[in-house]
Amino acid sequence: MLMKKDIIIRLFLSPIYDNVVFFVFMYLLGVVNSLIEFIILGYRLSIFIFFSQILDVYLLCMFIILFPIKIRDLARWFVSSFLYILSIVNIFCVEKFRAKLGPEIFNVILETNSREASEFWDKYIGCDIIWSSVLLIVVLFVLHWLISLRSHSLRKILFVRLKNKRVLYPTLIQFSLVLLILVCCACSLSSRINLIRLLLAPDISSLDKYVDNKTLNTPLNNFAFSYKMHQLSVNGLNVLVKSQDKIQIEKCSYLCDKVVLIIGESYIKTHSQLYGYNKMTTPRQVARTMNNCSGRLIVYEDVISPSNLTSTVFKNVFSLHSVEDTTNWEQYPLLPVIFRKAGYNVTFITNQFVKSLSTDVFNFSGGLFLNDSRLSQLQFDHRNNSAHRYDEGLLQDYDSLCIYNQEHNLIIFHLAGQHFDFDKRSPNSYKRFSADDYVDRKDLDKAERQLVADYDNATFYNDFVVDEIIGRFENDNAIVIYMPDHGEECYDEIHRMGRMPSGYYSAEMARQEFRIPFWIWCSDKFSANNPSLLELINSSKRRPFMTDDLPHMILFLAGISCQYYNDEKNVLSNNFNSHRVRLIDGKVDYDELVK
Ligand SMILES: [Zn+2]
Repeated sequence: MLMKKDIIIRLFLSPIYDNVVFFVFMYLLGVVNSLIEFIILGYRLSIFIFFSQILDVYLLCMFIILFPIKIRDLARWFVSSFLYILSIVNIFCVEKFRAKLGPEIFNVILETNSREASEFWDKYIGCDIIWSSVLLIVVLFVLHWLISLRSHSLRKILFVRLKNKRVLYPTLIQFSLVLLILVCCACSLSSRINLIRLLLAPDISSLDKYVDNKTLNTPLNNFAFSYKMHQLSVNGLNVLVKSQDKIQIEKCSYLCDKVVLIIGESYIKTHSQLYGYNKMTTPRQVARTMNNCSGRLIVYEDVISPSNLTSTVFKNVFSLHSVEDTTNWEQYPLLPVIFRKAGYNVTFITNQFVKSLSTDVFNFSGGLFLNDSRLSQLQFDHRNNSAHRYDEGLLQDYDSLCIYNQEHNLIIFHLAGQHFDFDKRSPNSYKRFSADDYVDRKDLDKAERQLVADYDNATFYNDFVVDEIIGRFENDNAIVIYMPDHGEECYDEIHRMGRMPSGYYSAEMARQEFRIPFWIWCSDKFSANNPSLLELINSSKRRPFMTDDLPHMILFLAGISCQYYNDEKNVLSNNFNSHRVRLIDGKVDYDELVK
């Protein structure tokens, strides 16, 4: 007769007994995913991950045994197939886009129609994918399938024959397994509670608090997080639309006829000649800082982005929300809507968030509130409808849309800039640098030196595009503000490229990914009409600034007064709060981190 203790142990281990092969392969699948992410993305690999994955698979096995025995095989295959597919998508994204499966990729999949899916397939799915890390997942799947066919005899060997011999079983194996699961529970409890809180979060701000790499350490957890994020975003858009009704303009003095905002992409400050880079990447911008040029370009010295994620930056730069605000982002007015209500004509020209969604994957990320048809109508009078291979295509878009310009205009350019793949961001005629120009970089191999050259070529080309944009406003009463969404890593302070997900902060990473170039160009007419404003711009260029508060400066420069404007957040104002704690991702004090 079995003792009470044996019954408890047997019950405790029954999820594993009933699903041995499933348990082993699902665990291996998690481990392979983590190892590939570690190798390709350079994530810090913690032993904790392997413990928490044991607990995750154990819980999955518990879920499987809830099914009646007759359909348990079917349930196992359904769950394991789903996890293999998730893993393949995850590893594909890691290989191709240097990003794990997350909300942005999830949105791409949901928003892609059949034509776009076929374009995507043509572009990204080739024979090379078979020989990538995806192959490991496929091999694992085939092994799983083959061994499952023999799973009954395997279970017999493991549990019945050993039981009869009473050598290892039940004592050693059972107690080791029980101990292992208990250790995994102890190690992973807080992160799994975090996951439950994340999945129950009522809005995105509350959800953000629970996002960290310990919680989101498997494709399944990332999928659940992405789904939740998508649901909340869709709900949030409805709130955002309603919030725009509340906007009331007190008065507008129309200080400027053309307010131009250029939003760049993935711009490393130290790769700009404007900030002392030893390669001539921005000669045209440097020339515009000189006295003998039309207008005046004033360079800001200490500006950071609120996030290293395009979508988060856009949400903050396009709204009156600041990262430390406790009220939800959706409750705030959008800057273009304020401009339209004040009587400005608003034009949006983007090489990423076009509504046709027909080009690269990064077109979709974060474009939700810009491409929702209600919000697009509220924000923009005119916008372009196709993306271009190179950013200079936006110049033609502007040339065709400028016939709709009115007396007062807000014109927003959004570039592909220096987004990865760097070599695809500039045409051959702008390939000024090659790997040979970086022979002094002994820390890099030839391919890495070429990547740096590609990045600098993209920056050099960006200089041309930006200069062409300025050229279109030289005879107007205009200002042009330039900011990239965030920085990037390209083998500078750290031997890696790309951007790290939220949660991995270091001084080097923050300097590379959050510190950005920023400048304001004033036309001669604007300077002559507003000498005091020019003086304010000049005197504020050393102030520490974070671009989530940019809308306050833009409202001030446009002469718009409304209840949402805050003088302390306007970097040009004498009341500007220079002591603001600049929290990157709303979590970490940037100045404290990098000092
Ligand atoms: Zn970006």
